Amino acid sequence: MLVRTRFAPSPTGFLHVGGARTALFCFLFARRYGGQFILRIEDTDEARSTETSVSAILDGMAWLGLDCDEGPYYQSERADIYRSYIDHLLQTGLAYRCYCTKEELEQLRESQRILGQKPRYDGRYRDYSGPARKGVDPVIRFKNPLQGEVVINDLIRGTMTFDNAELDDLVIARADGTPTYNFTVVVDDLEMGITHVIRGDDHINNTPRQINILRALGKEPPAYAHVPMILGSDGHRLSKRHGAVAVTQFRERGYLPEALLNYLVRLGWSHGDKEVFSLAEMIDLFSLENVNRGAAAFDYDKLHWLNQHYIKESNASILGDLLADQLDLLGVRRDIGPTPALVAQAQRERAKTMREMAENSRYFYEDFDDFEEKAAKKNFKKGILETLRILRSELSGVINWRAEVLQEVVADTAANANVKLGKVAQPLRVAVCGRAVSPPIDVTLELTGKVRTLQRLDMAIAYICTNQLSS
Ligand code: GLU
Repeated sequence: MLVRTRFAPSPTGFLHVGGARTALFCFLFARRYGGQFILRIEDTDEARSTETSVSAILDGMAWLGLDCDEGPYYQSERADIYRSYIDHLLQTGLAYRCYCTKEELEQLRESQRILGQKPRYDGRYRDYSGPARKGVDPVIRFKNPLQGEVVINDLIRGTMTFDNAELDDLVIARADGTPTYNFTVVVDDLEMGITHVIRGDDHINNTPRQINILRALGKEPPAYAHVPMILGSDGHRLSKRHGAVAVTQFRERGYLPEALLNYLVRLGWSHGDKEVFSLAEMIDLFSLENVNRGAAAFDYDKLHWLNQHYIKESNASILGDLLADQLDLLGVRRDIGPTPALVAQAQRERAKTMREMAENSRYFYEDFDDFEEKAAKKNFKKGILETLRILRSELSGVINWRAEVLQEVVADTAANANVKLGKVAQPLRVAVCGRAVSPPIDVTLELTGKVRTLQRLDMAIAYICTNQLSS
């Protein structure tokens, strides 16, 4: 059997990480079994579907590298197909026109409420063979079996049984003739030869209804796997309140796609104790049996850990491009300053996100007019003044402004002053960067450049003279 999975988002908002994880599971399952992964945009709800959302979904999928083998299909372009299936069900007596008005349905619901019953359509037009009712555009309902049960052997949740007596006759086409969600999904899963439906568990209640329609069309249902939802740290469904949730937001905030994919695959799926997975490893090892049944909580700390891991591992030129994007997003001008790839190379050990790396690299590109207070207090004592003056003079004589040369100047200055290297390097760092953390001092000086280094040393010397901090 050729495995065919599909991701079928409704374009009514951004691509949520929950959706991205579903897409990833569909993608991995198809790849694992040499199958095909299909993308289908479920845009039949015209009022809520938007072009912007379609772009955000396609953009997010492309960024994550979840390439599909077929599609994107757009349900809005498939109206004729749905129509022919509806006609077929009407002709074979498996669907019928229901002439209930809105008021009648409301009355029905109200009387059920008073009797403490679950609101459901009572099938009053199921066997109606009279003439069309004047003034009412009928909806079309599916004739759900009245007896028996639907058993689902869900690949994640195990066996689930639904009583047909609990399911009412679903509207499959609205009064204006447009098909409803549960119907288009069935037709498309059938038409597209989907073998495994992997989707969020918020669709569990739709599954028995969809299976009944499929069977009425003479088909056996595909296999189903319902993926549990993602929670925030407080146990509520993950939403904007918890932080970034849209895939594109993660990109903007400086996460690497490899890190987000790795994080998402581990969210609810495991393979022993292994935490770090390349895409190839995920494809090799992924299985639905190892997906948890319970909901998983999104842990930003763990995502940071993975992101940091991938930042350390990434190729310098890719990191450089990502850093350049982040600097641009922050509005930092890059025209006077070092090549971002060199900065990324120097900073890669100490950034959890590319955004953080950009924030911490501003001083290579932008001048500042004050030093971080705590760092200045600790490092700019009067006793350092002379050393900084010597450094300034030695550095001004350096022609070959390279890390190796600069390292020697700092080391010699420390040796001449009879102090450890750190005693000189740290005040120098604060002088040049305005803060106490930066890459190794030689690299920091090289990247900052001679002109800026000397200017900032002058600024530090003036600061110490003005503030007269005691030694
Ligand atoms: N369009 C549905 C949604 O975005 C998914 C349908 C499905 O996977 O069956 O929730």
